Amino acid sequence: MDTKRFAVIRHDVEFSVERAYNLAKLENTLQINTSYMFQIRNNAYNLFSNENIRMVREINGMGHKIGLHVHLGMLDSLAEINQYIVHDSKVMESFLQIPIDRFSFHRPPKELLKMNVKLEGLINSYEDRFFEFREEEDGFESLQIKYISDSRHTWNYGYPDEKTIQADSKIQFLFHPYSWTEYGYENSLNFQSLKDEKVTIFTNTVKTECNHFSEPSQ
Ligand SMILES: [Zn+2]
Repeated sequence: MDTKRFAVIRHDVEFSVERAYNLAKLENTLQINTSYMFQIRNNAYNLFSNENIRMVREINGMGHKIGLHVHLGMLDSLAEINQYIVHDSKVMESFLQIPIDRFSFHRPPKELLKMNVKLEGLINSYEDRFFEFREEEDGFESLQIKYISDSRHTWNYGYPDEKTIQADSKIQFLFHPYSWTEYGYENSLNFQSLKDEKVTIFTNTVKTECNHFSEPSQ
């Protein structure tokens, strides 16, 4: 299928399934369906915990698509990338019991983007239908497929305002849920609030596992 006009929204979920879940609920009220890409090899969350499986299944139930956010940390060579993605998406599908039909790369090197990986039954969000690869860092204004991303908490490739959106017939947006809360935190406050949320979640987990849990008295 080739399409002449599209605006796709993709969310790469780096640190917090909870923030992805909250964003998904917000989008649901706006009647927008997007793609949520989760990692299974990161050190910040366990996608296959009871709680997280429940949230991801609920996100999918709202009408959003679920994909694999490919962490390359245990890949030996780019020549093995196809098997690596197929393996990880099957693992994800088997744990979540929902279809995984797409993937995005986490911090992809240029040589990987250039490979334009295409796999049966799996959409690569960086394949040439949805993403225009270029060697140079600048000149992104002239791309046929606009790419708007909030990576590193900044709009390095343009701001997603109405004028920009109206001007382009093909756009891919990448928004990282960890960067967004209803309070609109600037970068360091955003990370602080993320850390606080994680501490609360970890504390509650330990409390439910250990009846000898205690915190030092002030
Ligand atoms: Zn990523």
